[in-house]
Amino acid sequence: MDGAIAPASEPGCHGGRQTMLAAADAAGKGAVMAQLAADYPRGPHDQPQSMCPAFGALRVGLRMRRVQTILSGSACCVYGLTFTSHFYGARRTVGYVPFNSESLVRGQLFEDIRAAVHDVARPEELDAVVVINLCVPTASGVPLDLLPKQINGVRVIGIDVPGFGVPTHAEAKDVLSGAMLRAARAEAMAGPVARPRALAELPTVALIGELFPADPPGVAAMLAPMGLAVAPPVPCREWRDLYAALDSVVAAATHPFYTATIREFVAAGRAVVGSAPVGVEGTADWLDAVGAAANISAARIDAAKARALPAIEAARQACPVTARITISGYEGSELLVARALVEAGAEVPYVGTACPRTDWSEADQAWLAARGTHVQFRAALEQDVAAMREVRPDLAIGTTPLVQSAKEMGIPAIYFTNMVSARPLFGAPGMGALGGIVAAQTSGKARFAQMREFFADVGTGPTAGYGWTDIPSDPPGLRERNRRARETRARAAANQAMGS
Ligand code: SF4
Repeated sequence: MDGAIAPASEPGCHGGRQTMLAAADAAGKGAVMAQLAADYPRGPHDQPQSMCPAFGALRVGLRMRRVQTILSGSACCVYGLTFTSHFYGARRTVGYVPFNSESLVRGQLFEDIRAAVHDVARPEELDAVVVINLCVPTASGVPLDLLPKQINGVRVIGIDVPGFGVPTHAEAKDVLSGAMLRAARAEAMAGPVARPRALAELPTVALIGELFPADPPGVAAMLAPMGLAVAPPVPCREWRDLYAALDSVVAAATHPFYTATIREFVAAGRAVVGSAPVGVEGTADWLDAVGAAANISAARIDAAKARALPAIEAARQACPVTARITISGYEGSELLVARALVEAGAEVPYVGTACPRTDWSEADQAWLAARGTHVQFRAALEQDVAAMREVRPDLAIGTTPLVQSAKEMGIPAIYFTNMVSARPLFGAPGMGALGGIVAAQTSGKARFAQMREFFADVGTGPTAGYGWTDIPSDPPGLRERNRRARETRARAAANQAMGS
């Protein structure tokens, strides 16, 4: 590795995407950024609106057995990422290779990363080491592709997950999953690989996307009459699961934004189906699609439907939903939740997802559009809030800032991630869980009105606060002084730029 590294001049998620992209390009990361742009097309907003995207990749690494994950990035980013990891119960050590301007510019950071990888790559403890380049090392061209591919049998997976190239943390999960599947596929093509822990006797279906733990067994029960089983879901929980997932006959893109992951399944010759077994109609369609992709006879597909659908229908009738609901999120399962709720009887005029439109979300989008639902892909927070204001739903399911806005308006609201993603979604359990959530939340509507009344006098936005008898006003002349200071700074910056 030669020591010349171009330092990113304006680092960070607020540093200007174009500047960072130009720096990454100049530092030799043009091909990486082009692939990220192709896999994860951008939307109306050009910076992450949720947590740091790299969290998705970090989480995937931390959830795998015998895998050590190491971050390479600014200390403030790493602080936030480790904090969030432990908040979500990682219970694993996050590795970190620190740097300063000098070690970055002189190329020492790469050498430090290489030394760290050699240090931790003990085959008796690890199957793989994952190194994640955050924004500054990516923009500065730290060449993780020059790391050894393996050390004493421990694989080394280096990935770039910059906030200026990967729009959501959901898609960052795909970056790492795709990179691991690529490595595992190459190993499987080169010769014998480790036997999966629980090798299925039947042909399998690989479920793509992070799922509630009860969902895969539920899907397995649905598939059994077709003579199919489920493979370990991707993202996997240990390295040998990657081989088992690749060994499936069908890859089910239940989370449709896993572009790099799906590319590996396609390269392995697997059929891919979209959507998921949600609701009666959704489950029937999905079983048809999976059965056809796996060359199962019509009689066996019908047998699977005959077993699964009556229970879902019974759950639907037991938990009917009559509310008007808006749905917003960044998990990638928003359309599936909407489908289930519409089948349960809800009016769902708007679904916003931070994830992009892909071939594998087409069927759900078309199904929802035919029932009057507007689906906004790559939705910005502003679009989600505007939709909620216009629709005035009985319940808003959404992200933290959306729920905050809903509460200010006295609209019952719940967090998508904490409430919906933390429950089953597929089959009869999913139908029952969603119905239960809506019933519990909409019945508390009066509480939200009371809460709004209670806080009515505390002001909003910059004037919010306790203990005031009046709405506080700005000190005289403050805004004018700030405006003049900003103009002076802008003039000085312009003069400096002209002089250099
Ligand atoms: S790594 Fe994450 S937190 Fe750090 S600058 Fe990039 S997007 Fe922001």
